[in-house]
Amino acid sequence: MPALSQDLILAELKHIAAPDGRGNIVSAGLVSEIAIQDGEVMFALNVNPAHAKSMEQLAAFVQDRVSKIDGVKKARVVLTAERAPERTPGPKQQQAASLRNGIPGVKHLIAVASGKGGVGKSTTAINLALGFKANGLRVAVLDADVYGPSMPKLFGIHGKPEASDEEGKRMKPMNRFGVEVASIGFLVDEATPMIWRGPMVMSALTQLLREVSWGETDVMVIDMPPGTGDAQLTLAQQTPLSGAVIVSTPQDLALIDARKGLNMFVKVNVPVLGIIENMSYFICDQCGKRHEIFGHGGARKEAEKLSLPFLGEIPLDLEIRERSDAGEPIVASLPDSPHAAVYRGIAANIWARLEAGQLTKAPPRIVIE
Ligand code: ADP
Repeated sequence: MPALSQDLILAELKHIAAPDGRGNIVSAGLVSEIAIQDGEVMFALNVNPAHAKSMEQLAAFVQDRVSKIDGVKKARVVLTAERAPERTPGPKQQQAASLRNGIPGVKHLIAVASGKGGVGKSTTAINLALGFKANGLRVAVLDADVYGPSMPKLFGIHGKPEASDEEGKRMKPMNRFGVEVASIGFLVDEATPMIWRGPMVMSALTQLLREVSWGETDVMVIDMPPGTGDAQLTLAQQTPLSGAVIVSTPQDLALIDARKGLNMFVKVNVPVLGIIENMSYFICDQCGKRHEIFGHGGARKEAEKLSLPFLGEIPLDLEIRERSDAGEPIVASLPDSPHAAVYRGIAANIWARLEAGQLTKAPPRIVIE
């Protein structure tokens, strides 16, 4: 039996035709670097995310073929979204330039960002969007968190978007609570493993921004991918943002991350609209007392230090979590609650700043300690 090697695997893969009928999957450049360890073989097939669904079958077929090669104990084939989508025309620079000119019909785009995951960025983004809506604005939400799209779940939206033209080149946004929504989560199955490389994130988002038939919109809330890596930086730079909102928990660690988030926007000259402290305090439903679990107030102090607006604090509350997780966000489903009022207040504050155009002032000086 020949020793297991990349060449041996490639020789087998060359017998599998490429999906467009031209050559095989190796000559078509679909196969990534092949990793072999203790008889386990792993590699990726690079696909256009728009075709990810139909490529799942191919991935399963390829995985089966490889697992039957002598000496292979286990094969794992994942889909990645590294290739540029076919429909996006022209070089990247052109795409970026066209995006910078704005999205037709959309007045303001704001990014909701955090320096790290798990601080409640998506929960804040959806409730803020619903706050804008409750304040009488026309609102859209773009789920740019391609690594973990959560808007389908938070909005409780199931199903796939419909095409909005005959050739199927554009799609309609989904709609719930009177808010238009687009998410990569509507297009790719949750169970489909997708590995996103930096440039691909921007291409996918360009498609979501450009190829969705957004209606007239006062404010589009963009739920950013968490963190401050290259993909996030490019997104902040190439999306025509009016401003960014940073969500942080009061813990020191999260604040250091939040500062990195701030710095990212400052670097690319996007005005920071302010900081929201999430999970700020907890009111015990047994004793009615306010508990400051994470040492409340850190974000307010931090905002002061950086001369940034402090937009408000949102308590840690079971109702907020349960309603989010059930696809019934609190601002829509419990509009009379004090928490809904907090989100509406923050939304009003942000809108006033957007409309007053106070956003061009010099960015704050950010010091990373
Ligand atoms: P991120 O987008 O930063 O990863 P999520 O919005 O997904 O964070 O929130 C992470 C978890 O915390 C979710 O289960 C969410 O319901 C919960 N959560 C977010 N904000 C609050 C809050 N203010 N009170 C209670 N739970 C919250």
